[in-house]
Amino acid sequence: MTRLVARIILAVLVLPISNVLQMFLSSAVAFASNQQSVLISTGAALGVLVFVVTYWLLLWRSSVQWTPSRIRRTWLIVVLAMAFGALVLGFFAAISSMPVPFAATLAGYTMPVAWILGTVFVWRETPKERMERLKTYGTDAVCCPMCGYNMTGLKETRCPECGAQFTVDELYTAQHEREQELQRS
Ligand SMILES: [Zn+2]
Repeated sequence: MTRLVARIILAVLVLPISNVLQMFLSSAVAFASNQQSVLISTGAALGVLVFVVTYWLLLWRSSVQWTPSRIRRTWLIVVLAMAFGALVLGFFAAISSMPVPFAATLAGYTMPVAWILGTVFVWRETPKERMERLKTYGTDAVCCPMCGYNMTGLKETRCPECGAQFTVDELYTAQHEREQELQRS
């Protein structure tokens, strides 16, 4: 299994794991009074968000280019995810007069989704960043056409980073195209 495949499996599992955690934490409501239930379910929702944010950062931190602006926007996603959770809680508790612990649990399920969606947009490499990265390899480097990994000097045509298999002529064509792309920029 390549590192990328392992990461993708872990990424797919983040929401099921967070849902189990959410159920486990908020099950304490069964032993609590009404007022405590509100605290427990809100605390559980926030706890799950902290878990998912940490898990997601640990999983992807090495593939993100951490510019100051991207770090700022990453914090902003956390704040926006919490604001979204508060909105969900307020909406269901007020409009549909759902008991607050239920509404908080619902917010706990939606906040991690908001966070993950936000990171997809903020963490994605911009075309300019991709070009800068490819430039640092120089025009004579052979890079994986799938993930951009520098394959120069390898004795096989399989990318060790993403696992994609190429033929020599596919790598040759991709290298040639990249050279032209770099010359144009
Ligand atoms: Zn690759």
